[in-house]
Amino acid sequence: MTGKFETKVLHSVKKQEKQIKSKVTPIYQTSAFSFEDLDELEGFYQGEGNYLYSRSGNPNPDELAMAVAALECAPAGVASSSGMSAILAGVLCVAKAGDHVLAADDLYGGTYHLLKEELNDLGISTTFVSFTNPDEMKAAIQENTKLLYSESITNPLLRVENLEEVVNFAKNHGLYSMVDNTFATPYHCTPYTLGVDLVVHSATKYIGGHGDVTSGVLVGKEDLITKAKSKVVNFGANVSAFEAWLTSRGLKTLALRMKAQSSNARGLADAFCLNDNVENVYYPFNEATEGFGAMVSIKLKENIDVNQFFKALSWIKIVPTLAGVETTVSHPLTTSHRALPHDACESLGITKQVVRISVGIEHLDDIVLEFNRAIEKASI
Ligand SMILES: *Cc1c(COP(=O)(O)O)cnc(C)c1O
Repeated sequence: MTGKFETKVLHSVKKQEKQIKSKVTPIYQTSAFSFEDLDELEGFYQGEGNYLYSRSGNPNPDELAMAVAALECAPAGVASSSGMSAILAGVLCVAKAGDHVLAADDLYGGTYHLLKEELNDLGISTTFVSFTNPDEMKAAIQENTKLLYSESITNPLLRVENLEEVVNFAKNHGLYSMVDNTFATPYHCTPYTLGVDLVVHSATKYIGGHGDVTSGVLVGKEDLITKAKSKVVNFGANVSAFEAWLTSRGLKTLALRMKAQSSNARGLADAFCLNDNVENVYYPFNEATEGFGAMVSIKLKENIDVNQFFKALSWIKIVPTLAGVETTVSHPLTTSHRALPHDACESLGITKQVVRISVGIEHLDDIVLEFNRAIEKASI
């Protein structure tokens, strides 16, 4: 590079070309991609080259989307900036203004808010019903109903959705089905293989697994994902290359993490069953899959001061998220389910005494000891 300093300082930073064979995909930290000539540019629009502009496509989000699609046994996927934007893209690729969604009444608080408020304002209405009651579901179907929406494992009471029934119900009524598989992950359950049209993840949780990213992935058939991709691109809901790269890195240990965390969760649930100060333990165990994930919820008896319990925990932190490798606790009523009306929470059983535990990969003995000690200390 010749020229004056101002020019050299920019152009002596040389882009390293493809022949560098890195072991893992590098972070394509670039806002756009360059072209040799107009033919190559034209080739992009003819579907030859892959990338033009990072909002509309970048190798790191694509790597993440393809990996999750492969694990969910779905042909296509799209990564996005968060679980919420992946849910938004999924709903919008099957429903538009004037359409109606039938959703389970025990959804993640953010999803509930999205459907009830934001999408309602845009003309997509939602009825929330108990998915354990097919008559109620049938009665709530409208002429304009397009989508059946639920979660494979609900939050925080860990109800396991009967996905075969959801799929049958959707097929019988000509609806699309969409399932949030965040809590189960494809380690425990693959809704697409059961006939669910769209499967969504808050990859912020187990897919990433280390509590250091916010991202989402939606998977399904090519035609639906093509539409969803267009939503992600046009709403600017793309995930950054770095966040996607971190999520893919975390994903590689999903099997190890889920195995350790699910086994710890089962052990912890067993220990809670023996604790007289615990009124209810929510951990639906399944022999075939060695558990239903790594979440355990408990309802503490009234003689336990919940705030004292949280205070009494020493190394377990209160964190209003889940799925990291460290054990964490949250209080659903005042965090994840804040958006849900108070009486709806009560009727679902999400009371002040309910504590949600995201079980980590520490040694089970230490986890059990820490919880038993804190419960003991909070007894009044
Ligand atoms: C966290 C979460 C979401 C939202 O995901 P974000 O990545 O926070 O946008 C959606 N569904 C479930 C079940 C979640 O736990």
